[in-house]
Order: sequence, then C-alpha cells, then structure tokens
Amino acid sequence: MVGGWWLVVGGRVANSEAETHLLARELAATLEAGDVLLLSGDLGAGKTTFVRGLAEGLGIDPADVSSPTFTLLHEYRGGRLALYHADLYRLDKTATEDLGLEETGVRDGVLAIEWPDRLSHDLAGARLIRLEIVDDETRRITTNYSIR
Ligand code: ADP
Ligand code: MG
Repeated sequence: MVGGWWLVVGGRVANSEAETHLLARELAATLEAGDVLLLSGDLGAGKTTFVRGLAEGLGIDPADVSSPTFTLLHEYRGGRLALYHADLYRLDKTATEDLGLEETGVRDGVLAIEWPDRLSHDLAGARLIRLEIVDDETRRITTNYSIR
C-alpha cells in the first residue's frame, strides 16, 4: 500500500536525490485536492527535489518545477491535480499575510510550501514534511502525515 512507509518510526532515509524524488512521487498518489504540504529543512535539504517528485506523481513534467526565486507562487497544471508551489525563503512573516495562501489550491490542487516557518499564521490542516541533511547524499525525511 502506497504511503504506509510514512508510518515508520523515525521517518525514512533517502540515500540519493533520486530516492527523495521517488518517495515524493509515491506520496503524490495519496494526495487529494486541498491538501497542503509544508516542506521544512535547510538549504539543499531537498525541498524542491521533493516538489519535483510530487509533480511527477501527479502527472506533471518534473522539469517544469524550479525554485520560485522571483515568483513566489508557481502553478503547474496538466496533471491529476493542479500543483501550487510556494517558496517563502525571501519573505518575512508580514509579507506572507498578503499572499492569500489559504485560498490557494483549496479547490483544485495541492499546495507545497518551502520555508513554511516564514508563514505569518498556521494553515489549517497542513501536513509537515521535514527533510534533514544527514550527509552529502543522505536525507532523513519525517512527517506528521496521517495516512487515509
Ligand atoms: P532545497 O529546495 O531544500 O534547498 P534542493 O532540492 O533544491 O533543496 O537541492 C537539494 C540538493 O541536494 C541537490 O543538489 C541534490 O542533488 C542534493 N542531494 C543529495 N542527496 C540528496 C537526497 N538524498 N535527497 C535530495 N537531494 C539530495
Ligand atoms: Mg528549494
């Protein structure tokens, strides 16, 4: 059953970029419209990699996903669900109030947010996915995701 691995105590270890991508791709199969994923972790932890995996799992070309450096919110369509991708790295908490992230993705898609600690307030029902750098090629991925 896809998704069961999220329940493993201590999370999952991805030993390569490809493995992180694959984990996210598998998770995407369990997502529904309105789901919000908060991706926390240091620079280079693999948050954008994870979003590329989500895209592929939803049927979107992962090569379309980039770090939204200048655009705060990217929107990818053409898959099973729309994918909204926000990167709040450059923002402070007051700036995120104006983004309207609460309304984004609720109807037709999934919202993935990098640097969610920049959010001015909690997003209802959001699931936290934490990526930690263990070494060059290794990431520990934990979540409070509850499996339907
Ligand atoms: P972030 O968005 O968190 O800053 P990126 O996904 O943009 O991170 O970049 C992650 C970097 O770490 C890439 O250069 C990737 O090749 C490298 N990397 C090495 N091992 C892994 C792994 N297990 N999972 C994800 N990325 C990895
Ligand atoms: Mg990134």
